[in-house]
Amino acid sequence: MTNGRGRAFLFLAVVAGLTYAFWPADRRAAQKMQRPPLLQLAPVQSVGSGRLSSIRVNLTPSPVTSLPIQIDGAYRIQPVGNPRVLAEAAKLAATSVTVTKTGFQIGRNHYPVTRLEIHPQQSPAIWINGHQYRGTVRIYRRPGSKLMAVNVLPLEEYVASVVDSEMPAAFPPEARKAQAIVARTYAIYQMGQASRDALFEVYADTRSQKYLGFQYRGAGDRLLAGESASSRKIVDETRGMVCTYAGRLFCTYYSAVCGGHTLQGTELFSDAVPAVAAVPCDFCREAKYYRWDVSLTAAEMEKKVNPAVKGRTGSWGRLVALDNIPPAAPGRLLEFDAKYQQGHGTIRGDRLRTALSSHGVRSPHFRIEHQGKYSLHGRGHGHGVGLCQWGARGQAKIGRGVQQILQYYYPGSEIVIVGNSVARN
Ligand SMILES: [Zn+2]
Repeated sequence: MTNGRGRAFLFLAVVAGLTYAFWPADRRAAQKMQRPPLLQLAPVQSVGSGRLSSIRVNLTPSPVTSLPIQIDGAYRIQPVGNPRVLAEAAKLAATSVTVTKTGFQIGRNHYPVTRLEIHPQQSPAIWINGHQYRGTVRIYRRPGSKLMAVNVLPLEEYVASVVDSEMPAAFPPEARKAQAIVARTYAIYQMGQASRDALFEVYADTRSQKYLGFQYRGAGDRLLAGESASSRKIVDETRGMVCTYAGRLFCTYYSAVCGGHTLQGTELFSDAVPAVAAVPCDFCREAKYYRWDVSLTAAEMEKKVNPAVKGRTGSWGRLVALDNIPPAAPGRLLEFDAKYQQGHGTIRGDRLRTALSSHGVRSPHFRIEHQGKYSLHGRGHGHGVGLCQWGARGQAKIGRGVQQILQYYYPGSEIVIVGNSVARN
């Protein structure tokens, strides 16, 4: 585990100072989302707390009543943000954390606090739900006798795991470097967006970015790596590098396979800057889901579509057809027209994708044919905004470097180094 307040201070001073300069007062997205950008408001005060040098990752997609835990090696337990030591031990055998009336039960021990932090002597050490994590883990009480677990770890260590969690190790190094830079930029952007009282900045899944931790147990209890020497090297080679547009850090949305054309960022995300543009991309054509086909019976389609159609009432009767509305331009979000016996309504492609995801619909981009059953001919995997991960692979394979790749998917963007004063591991 990296450490050192001086190092963290330098990193934070650079990140905070730079981002302060980059964040425009009239940022449209900030106004729209009404979230105060932390980096602008409190660049220096947060340095001492280490708030910006570490990222806080929510490990529980929704709060749980019981959480499997194990700690390899010595650890101490403290209330969050309090130096008082509640317990110290040489290790913790596999057990679980549960909520009690007045605190938490971990194995045989009871802790009468509402939030606690587990500090291992070595990192990685703490296993949560079959994943071992670097850094510390905070446990919070949530309503309904539930709890939430948050992993706190140095940003660059987090990025090393995201690179391997999001992109296969077999992808070319230039594509993996692009992944590291967009993952880091995304993370710092989210750190800036989090409110002062937020308990975490990102989720460990695709709601933010996939983060598997240091290692985890897969099927059949097989131990799998969540990071590797390769991903740590990629992080080292891109240390502190972020994407900027017009001199400002932006939210680097990305997805697995665009299927031929990326989607204009503003079609799905209100805070997308112009650099998150729609660009043609056939570099992802070797991906499994470059093209895909799914079929549904009329009854299956009706059941899934009905709740998603705007303004639909029972008086409309049965669904009789579902048609593509021709898009205004490539890179625009598709819309569909749902025709009923007595009315019709539109559905956005992303809503229809969510409604049909259990049937294997993998993106908001598909053409529908209807002859008794519905046949969907789709392209891509994921929302299709920003960097195409399989496209980055394709571009790297024809010899393009990380800068070219990033400027392709985020036209007009630049790579800037922040925090290059962070000492190496
Ligand atoms: Zn692509």
